[in-house]
Amino acid sequence: MPSPEFSGPGLSGFPREELVSLLAPLPPYKAREIFAWIARGAESFDTMTNLGKNEREELSRRFSLYGTRCRARLDDPDGTVKLQITLHDGALIETVLLRDREGRGTACLSTQAGCPMGCVFCKTGALGFTRNLEAGEIVEQFLHLRRLNLGGPSHIVIMGMGEPLLNLGELRRALAVIMDKGGLGVSGRRITLSTSGLSREIRDLADSGPPLPLALSLTSAREELRGALMPAAEKLSNLKEALLYYQKKTRLRLTLEAALFRGLNTGAEEARAFRRFAQGLNVVVNLIPWNPVEGLLFRGLALREPSAAETGAFARLLEGEGLRVTRRFRRGRGVGGACGQLGSPSGTP
Ligand code: SAH
Ligand code: SF4
Repeated sequence: MPSPEFSGPGLSGFPREELVSLLAPLPPYKAREIFAWIARGAESFDTMTNLGKNEREELSRRFSLYGTRCRARLDDPDGTVKLQITLHDGALIETVLLRDREGRGTACLSTQAGCPMGCVFCKTGALGFTRNLEAGEIVEQFLHLRRLNLGGPSHIVIMGMGEPLLNLGELRRALAVIMDKGGLGVSGRRITLSTSGLSREIRDLADSGPPLPLALSLTSAREELRGALMPAAEKLSNLKEALLYYQKKTRLRLTLEAALFRGLNTGAEEARAFRRFAQGLNVVVNLIPWNPVEGLLFRGLALREPSAAETGAFARLLEGEGLRVTRRFRRGRGVGGACGQLGSPSGTP
């Protein structure tokens, strides 16, 4: 938002009833109207015509509406748009609008500046960790994307920079704002959360909500290889237990995501390990051929993306094991906006 209100954390991240308390003694119904104004992307308090002049002045003195600024927009020829967003302390994050052929827009939101999980194939992981995002910084990514006027976004994937379950508190507040019918009103069924796998937080989400379709970045179902690719990974047996619990409790669809690397996790043994891991769960396997990130080494060698034939052959192996398989649309590569490519301060892929 090229907002005149830019000065510090904003009101955009406050769930409706929190906003009512914060703005007291302003009457609650007026606070709820401000909540709705923010969801519509109001530029400033001055545009909120239902408030009196004195109220508007007082609010502008005390609060900012927004805390982030859109610094750059990068358009991929395939229709994907990546935005670079500056936070109030100068940290930079990226957010992506994916568009399919039907014109449906999906927002890919970040939850952390950087990421502490250190997955060796991921650009965000290579950046290291700066900090957790505040709720408003998550909500505003959605608002910035909607402001592009490219349709939607009607769907959300929490798959941008960072590990969402390490920032569950602020993410929950952001989701309360995003899902509120008196505001943005995005249904939880249209919001997928992708995690590298934190079993305690998966159970917490199952118990305390919000119930969201979950995607686990399995990558490899072989403990040793997974641990090497994802050094902060938990034991597979713990994760499996947590996923069984999540699915029993929520009855929501579950995706196993697999970033694929040439010659590394595309063989028959891997497919069998996937089947064993998936046993007892109702899952779809989503294959993501690795999106190249320069300079990332694994066991001293450069990672490589699999050929289309290798990806196809692995898909058939998985199907042969009785698994359902989909392939990730490969969008946004031209602007470094595809999975795992987020995080370049300069915006060059
Ligand atoms: N931290 C969360 C969400 C962000 S990463 C998670 O790991 O799930 C989103 C997805 O992108 C994950 O499935 C991850 O395995 C995948 N990914 C990371 N780097 C990638 C790359 N360079 N190419 C393809 N997929 C990648
Ligand atoms: Fe973090 Fe996900 Fe990247 Fe791993 S893949 S470093 S968890 S953002």
